[in-house]
Amino acid sequence: AKAAGKNQISVFHPGLRVEQLDQARITEGLRRALAREEFVLNYQPVVDLATGRIQAVEALLRWWSPEGIMPPDRFIPAAEESGLIVPIGVYALRRACADAARWYERYGIAVTVNVSGRQVHRPEFVSTVLDAMRESGLPGEALILEITETALLAPGKDDMARVIGYLSELRGHGVRVAIDDFGTGYSSLAYLQHLPVDVVKIDGAFTTLGSGTDTASRQRHAFTQAILNLCEVLNLPAIAEKVETSEQKGFLRDMQCPLGQGYLFSKPVPAGDLDLLLADAAAE
Ligand code: C2E
Ligand code: CA
Ligand code: CA
Ligand code: CA
Repeated sequence: AKAAGKNQISVFHPGLRVEQLDQARITEGLRRALAREEFVLNYQPVVDLATGRIQAVEALLRWWSPEGIMPPDRFIPAAEESGLIVPIGVYALRRACADAARWYERYGIAVTVNVSGRQVHRPEFVSTVLDAMRESGLPGEALILEITETALLAPGKDDMARVIGYLSELRGHGVRVAIDDFGTGYSSLAYLQHLPVDVVKIDGAFTTLGSGTDTASRQRHAFTQAILNLCEVLNLPAIAEKVETSEQKGFLRDMQCPLGQGYLFSKPVPAGDLDLLLADAAAE
């Protein structure tokens, strides 16, 4: 009965929600995945909107589970819940630094790595990052850590002061901090100037700009413009996420958005494919 599909299992445990079963199964799978090294990083270019040049690449985790490739939106929540995000995050950091060392050396490109709230609160967070840099030879200025504003702000004042301390220490080593999914959390825009932040990533929900004249479209334009104005004042480079069309790119350029990332430029690709992509771009 254990090996049966989740629908059958839920017949035997009518009190248990299918979702919970799913999470438990994923957590068990994650534990094995760590041991078997089933995680892979893909990389997605971050592009200078004015010149088209690749400035950085974002490392995005992929899990080749025995059931097939599992998207992060399905397993990251289970990894956060179980605490497994900590060792998974260490793996991602070390892998990303190791891959990025050659891209930085050859092309001067930085790597941005997602870190979860659970990770940045750990006392060993700073040494984990510094170890990954040392092992790979990647200098601090080639590493950007992406943290969501929720992860930074949610846990309460004392925790936040501690996290800010960790990030400040890393910035002392040249590492930059990007605030991810900006605009979706609860912080006021004014908060930005008090956080140890070097780069702002504007959430894809705002940057899916079109030529529509309905209220929702006009509001998206206005929000994007407001965030970009603020970044300009604070002297923080902004990256627009999920740029899918050249029309969106045009709008963003008109709004003086310096950087973009999205399927228009490239989807996330395996390291070997990025090697080829970068070599091609350099040859042009
Ligand atoms: P995120 O950090 O906001 O990453 C951006 C997501 O948008 C990625 O999804 C990327 O593949 C997707 N994307 C990029 N360009 C486009 C586009 O033009 N259109 C659309 N519709 N989507 C686009 P992905 O790779 O599935 O990752 C989902 C989330 O999982 C990430 O959101 C991040 O929160 C989390 N994640 C991924 N890798 C890691 C990791 O190593 N550590 C942690 N803590 N979280 C990770
Ligand atoms: Ca991200
Ligand atoms: Ca994001
Ligand atoms: Ca996200």
